[in-house]
Amino acid sequence: MRALVIENNQAYRDMLEQTLAEQGFTTDSGDSIETARSCVDSEPYDIICVNQALKDGSGEEFVAYCNQHQRHQDTPILFLTEDKELKVEDLSVRVDSVIHELNEHQIEDQIVHFVDLHLDPVFYEGRILFVEDDPEVAAEILSDLEQTGYQVSHFTTVEAACKEFDSVTVYGSHVDAYDLAITGLDLDGELAGEDLVTCIRSYEDGRGFIPIIAVTGDNNDHRRISLYQLGVNDFLTKPILHQELLVRIGNLITNKRLLDKVHDIRRELFALATVDKLTGCHNRHSLMEFSGKFVATARRHEYPVSMLVIDLDHFKAINDNHGHAVGDVVLELTGALLNESFREGDLVVRYGGEEFVVLMTHCDAEGARQKAASVRRAIEDLKPNGIDITTSIGVTTMEVGSKGDFEDMFHAGDKGVYVAKDEGRNRVVYVPMD
Ligand code: GH3
Ligand code: MG
Ligand code: MG
Repeated sequence: MRALVIENNQAYRDMLEQTLAEQGFTTDSGDSIETARSCVDSEPYDIICVNQALKDGSGEEFVAYCNQHQRHQDTPILFLTEDKELKVEDLSVRVDSVIHELNEHQIEDQIVHFVDLHLDPVFYEGRILFVEDDPEVAAEILSDLEQTGYQVSHFTTVEAACKEFDSVTVYGSHVDAYDLAITGLDLDGELAGEDLVTCIRSYEDGRGFIPIIAVTGDNNDHRRISLYQLGVNDFLTKPILHQELLVRIGNLITNKRLLDKVHDIRRELFALATVDKLTGCHNRHSLMEFSGKFVATARRHEYPVSMLVIDLDHFKAINDNHGHAVGDVVLELTGALLNESFREGDLVVRYGGEEFVVLMTHCDAEGARQKAASVRRAIEDLKPNGIDITTSIGVTTMEVGSKGDFEDMFHAGDKGVYVAKDEGRNRVVYVPMD
């Protein structure tokens, strides 16, 4: 963010500059109307502090110049004076606050308060994807945004912006790479701003939800409405007012951050409620929660699903011989192995103490038998903490057209484990559903 300080007293000027620097501003300063004018003509400022008495005239004269200035007509202005009676409404020009030069501490406090009120620094952090092909408009917005503290990636075509957007890394449900997109509408290249909006909204991960501002030269109602329908959040018409642009961006980014937080918390709560802490597998609760849908979807789309019920052999002896803590490590490593062994759509569950259940989607009886055999071997080869372990695995399949439900499946899988134990353990037994 950038501030301009016009003050004829050197000590006050230093103090103002320091206070503003502490608030995150880069500051330019001077003591005359002449300097002040050339500053506002060449740079965009987020805040202007001006003293009533200047070397070459009255501060009001400069404020009047700002009030008429294309870029600075809305910039917050702080007016400093020695006149203890002067109020905002006594002035014939627009200022946002009058500060009486009493003592340094009061001035500092009032400036901090003023900045809090008019400019929330939290707003000005974030990465922006910016698409505009008009060099003048692009340069102006780019310089406004960058001086304010945003990181901006600028493109002149939607094609290039989409390519960049696609390469973004997504963590969980939100994006760390971009917080907002700003796009012009009629641009260089084949594609228009509308295509960028469609491209962004097509992502089902966090990328698809970033706020988008459309910028246009003409205020065409139909186009504006259809842009809102495509998913644009806000709209700006050229010429763009610096303060308005920043406030709109700030509001949208703040809302996005809040939403990201809600998504993060929801994900954490979901993980707490559905994942077993020791093994990282789903817990029994999530099996109950998801199994009905798992089976119903398979039935509707007519593909087979299979189930493995995996029970560690003589686990009680492992606890007895090596201690409960080592028993826990064995469970943890077995869980990790199982989590790695199945496809993404499968559901790996720690059903109880040393018993796991796996639901396998698109898996027929033959596939399930083979998978069970390879899991049995992998567990035998695992040797967690150097300990030999084996498993008994019950396998069953719900074929296409089966009348059974999840309960029937579990009953058959569990029976397979029982038979495997009975036949000497460390084996796979397939039991068809009734
Ligand atoms: P089998 O071959 O017939 O399956 O014998 P087993 O000893 O594995 O079966 P049993 O059901 O008799 O014993 C299971 C043991 O698993 C008993 C229980 O103390 C232990 N266990 C259950 N949960 C945990 C756990 O979270 N950590 C540890 N270390 N042990 C557990
Ligand atoms: Mg057991
Ligand atoms: Mg058991």
